[in-house]
Parts: sequence; structure tokens; C-alpha cells
Amino acid sequence: LALAYGGATGHLAIIARSRGLPALVAVGGGLLDLDNGRTVLLDADNGRLLADPDSAQIEAARSLLRKREANRVARLASAAQPAHTLDGVEIEVAGNIADREEAEIALHNGADGIGLLRSEFLFMERDQRPSAAEQQTAYQAILDTMAGRPTTIRTIDIGADKPVSYLTLAKEDNPALGVRGIRLSLADDALFDDQFGALLSLTPLTKLRLMVPMVAEVSEVVRVKARIDQLAEQLGLKERPQFGVMIEVPSAALMAEQIAQYVDFFSVGTNDLTQYTLAMDRCNPDMAARLDQLHPAVLRLLAMTVEGARKHGKWVGVCGGAAGDRQAIPLLLGLGVSELSVAPPMVAEVKELVRSLDREHCAAAMAGILQLESAAAVRAEVLRRWPQCGRHGNGEE
Ligand code: PEP
Ligand code: MG
Repeated sequence: LALAYGGATGHLAIIARSRGLPALVAVGGGLLDLDNGRTVLLDADNGRLLADPDSAQIEAARSLLRKREANRVARLASAAQPAHTLDGVEIEVAGNIADREEAEIALHNGADGIGLLRSEFLFMERDQRPSAAEQQTAYQAILDTMAGRPTTIRTIDIGADKPVSYLTLAKEDNPALGVRGIRLSLADDALFDDQFGALLSLTPLTKLRLMVPMVAEVSEVVRVKARIDQLAEQLGLKERPQFGVMIEVPSAALMAEQIAQYVDFFSVGTNDLTQYTLAMDRCNPDMAARLDQLHPAVLRLLAMTVEGARKHGKWVGVCGGAAGDRQAIPLLLGLGVSELSVAPPMVAEVKELVRSLDREHCAAAMAGILQLESAAAVRAEVLRRWPQCGRHGNGEE
């Protein structure tokens, strides 16, 4: 898939990644001048689209693909085993999914659970909201597929680049800063009760992790918790799911210590956290090359998040794109993240990389890395310290 426009963490790119489809974004308008029927070679690793490759180039690409496929199959053999670092720390590697079919792909690739179900996909491409019963059936099917593994269901993140005509009616000048995510759920009682009621009716609730997106203020968390308590009482619940919030707005990272009192866990959404920290739209092709989740500003917010959580004995995962970025993984482990949730086809590869890292060494490197001045400097330092984090596992970029 090659797109003239778009961004690497935009939703089209997310869907491509979850299906294991090589994709290029922001190639530029020149892409549209290519005639139908031309042969092209898409090299997503190096961000290149080559028109009219010669036979040697095609053969080289085919041979690389054969090698990759052999590696992928070999990795699957140990994919279902837990991933421990060299110094014995278990890291949960989970899948980011949109539906039950993707839960199966995640399982096939060895996922320890689901770290992010983007439930908004159930609301899209239709003209009326799904009923509570329809939602319950869809979520239960995913929980059943995961057969006792922890399953994180995020309540709807509609708005911004995921508008839904029957829910987001008012036109907003800056939709990414408007009524999206938990703001939309809290603004519509029926919408909230249908989704949270469906989630609280699932079994077994002990395997469900209920998570809310786009939290910016402590008061939102307090309101959500109070409503969950009310619904749980109405339903006469004896068990409760774990409750977590996404950290994807800088204010939430800065207030992590305060928010941590009210939750069981955090999951960092580095796609939005990077967009809002750098003030660069994740869907804007002119920003695509600069929007790097390894920017030290983003890493510093991540460090604050883990620190805030730790003060209250809570755990932190990452479900944004950084969790599947080979060069980010030693940094996330070094900061104290204990769960990585990635596109299903990447689970086995991430487990393999985790097994090659020593968490203590990663942690010891962080003080220096947080002092660096740019994402490029961070990437260079990662490759110097951990050559296995190169795209081809050998330090090469
Ligand atoms: C994120 O923002 O990093 C995230 C995981 O949520 P989404 O990509 O669905 O906005
Ligand atoms: Mg997000």
C-alpha cells in the first residue's frame, strides 16, 4: 500500500500494520502520476517506492522476502512462550486489535493478551449506534477467543480523525482538540451507559481490563469511576474488571501521580502523546518525517508516567506505535514499562527482541538518553548500545 499523503500513526497506517501489509505514507503527490499497470517495488523498510525495477532488483527483493518468511516461521515456534529479559523480568507482549478476527491473528502470533481493542471500529461504517446487546456479543466473542488471557477493551475514541456521522454532529474547527474519546462518552449518557453496561456484563470480568482514552484531567477519571460504581451496583456485580486510563495527552502524563490513585494501570498511547507534545498532526504528510515517538520530550513524559504510577504501585503498558518500534523497546523497558501491545503480526518479533535485552542495562542507560537533544540522537545512541534494534537485527539502518 502506498499513499501520497497520510501519516505513519494515522488510522490507515494502523490498519495496514495490523494486517501485516507493507505500507508507505506521505510519498507525495507525484505518486498519483504513476500510470495504472506500471510495475513498482515497494521497500517499506527504507521508505522507498521504485518504479520499473529491473530483474536483478526484483530478484533481490524476492530473496529478502523468502528470508523474512523463513525467520517469521522460525520465530513462531517460541512465540507462545512468555518473554523474559536476559535478567529474568517478564514482559507481557499483547496485541492491538479492532475485532475478533484480529484477536485470532494475535493469538496465532503468540500474544499474551490484548493490550488494546479499539472499540470504535464497531461504531464505524454504519449509520446508527450499536445497541448494548450487540456490543456485549461482540466484546464477549473477543474475550472468549482470548480464552482466559487478559483482554483490554478501550471505550470508544471517536472524533478527530475518526468521525462518526451519527455521533459527531457539530463541526469543530480543531477536532483533535475537541470532543473526542472519553469527552464524547461523558457528554452522552446513553452512549456511556450502553458501552460501559455491555462491558460490565462480560464474563469473566477478572480477565477484562477496561480502559478509557484521551483523559486530560483527574476529574474525568473520577467521574468515570463514579459511573462505573453506579452501573456495577445496578448490575449487582461481585467482581470488577481492572480499570485503566490511556496516557496520551501531555497533561495526563504530567498528572500521572495524581491519576494513578484512581486506576489499576496506565497504557501510554504514544501516537497521540507525540502528536500533542510536538504539536504535529499525526495525519499531516508534511509533519510525517518529523513526528518521531522517540523524541526526548515524549520519553521524558513517559518517564514521569512510570514514576507517577510507581508511587501508587500501579503498572504501565504502552499500546502506541512505540511499543512495536525496535529502537524504542530498550528505552521502554529501561523506563519500567511492563507490557508492550503491538500490531498482531509483530508480537513474535517483539518477544524475540525483549529476550535479547537486559532490563538493568536498559535502565542504567536512561539517565543519559533522557538528556539527548533530538529523536535522531536517541536513535543513534540506541543503535550504538543495542545493535540488535536495527531494522534487520544487526544495527544497520
Ligand atoms: C495512541 O494514541 O497511541 C493510541 C494507541 O490510540 P489511537 O492510535 O487509537 O489513537
Ligand atoms: Mg490515541
